[in-house]
Amino acid sequence: MRAVVYERPGRVALRTVPDARIERPGDAVVRVAAAGVCGSDLIFVGRGLYQAGQRCGHEFLGVVEETGRAVTALRVGDAVLAPFCWADGDCRHCLAGLLTSCADGGVWGLGEGSDGGQGEAVRVPHADATLVRLPAEALTDRRLAPAVLALADVLPTGHHAVVAAGVRPGSTVAVVGDGAVGLCAVLAAARAGAERIIAVGSHPGRLRLALRFGATDTLAARGADADRRLAELTDGHGVDAAVEAVGTTPALETAIRATRPGGTVGFVGLPHHDTAPDLGPAFFHNVALRGGIAPVRRYLPELLPEVCAGSLDAGALFDFTGTLADVPAAYDAMSGRTVLKALIRP
Ligand SMILES: [Zn+2]
Repeated sequence: MRAVVYERPGRVALRTVPDARIERPGDAVVRVAAAGVCGSDLIFVGRGLYQAGQRCGHEFLGVVEETGRAVTALRVGDAVLAPFCWADGDCRHCLAGLLTSCADGGVWGLGEGSDGGQGEAVRVPHADATLVRLPAEALTDRRLAPAVLALADVLPTGHHAVVAAGVRPGSTVAVVGDGAVGLCAVLAAARAGAERIIAVGSHPGRLRLALRFGATDTLAARGADADRRLAELTDGHGVDAAVEAVGTTPALETAIRATRPGGTVGFVGLPHHDTAPDLGPAFFHNVALRGGIAPVRRYLPELLPEVCAGSLDAGALFDFTGTLADVPAAYDAMSGRTVLKALIRP
């Protein structure tokens, strides 16, 4: 089969790789119908954090093609969505809802020998606990397929930030970052009933999308300028909750400084800090830092029905559609910020 693999820093390529196949009784093989390219793919590839030949992509949905003999909840032909991690679903961390900490879990493409989502098929370990069944039209419907694909990572990650930051009806929220996760956090904050949502970014088109997703204010600023304008917008009080959806030192520092004393930062940007963030303002104002890698699978039973009903729709994030052959160009376009998020139909 064909799959996208890491070649060298900043470069992926489409290659022929061994076919995905059942290796353990709990495995399923999923034929990929749609896959996403994620901002974290760009970080791992751009910084050369992979080994040459390692598979890429962790967002996909598709059709169950084969099941191991221990798989009971899925049948061949089922439409399914994979969260970005697989997990056994029954260890103490999984039972506590932290499936991302499963001792027998992993992230597509990161575990040794694991398949990536940007390929023709994927071997899914612990298929019963990992995969979520979808209505069949989720694979083909032009509106629904991108909206559901956003549930593989970015939408539940934005939601996780909002949950971690304690956003509630009436909250004032700042979302730092105008990538797919930041925009999903805007959507999630609006869903949670936030009264004021300030989207902080730099890309005019993405800030316009933030307004469509429920932001009440947008701010194209960074550093001290962002601090000053966030203070002005909140009459000097600071926001109740901030979301950090970038993973850089300046973004985390902006989120901390934007938050009122006793407020909370939900941080979900994949950390790639070049220097240690200044935690002084968090210390002196009792600003809590919560969040981390999103246990996506835990949120899917709550979010999937709303996405299928059309009341929660992040599908507008996808502004590029291509095939596996287009994936290297999609990485380049996303890195250059001319594409927000790519949808790949193998
Ligand atoms: Zn587990």
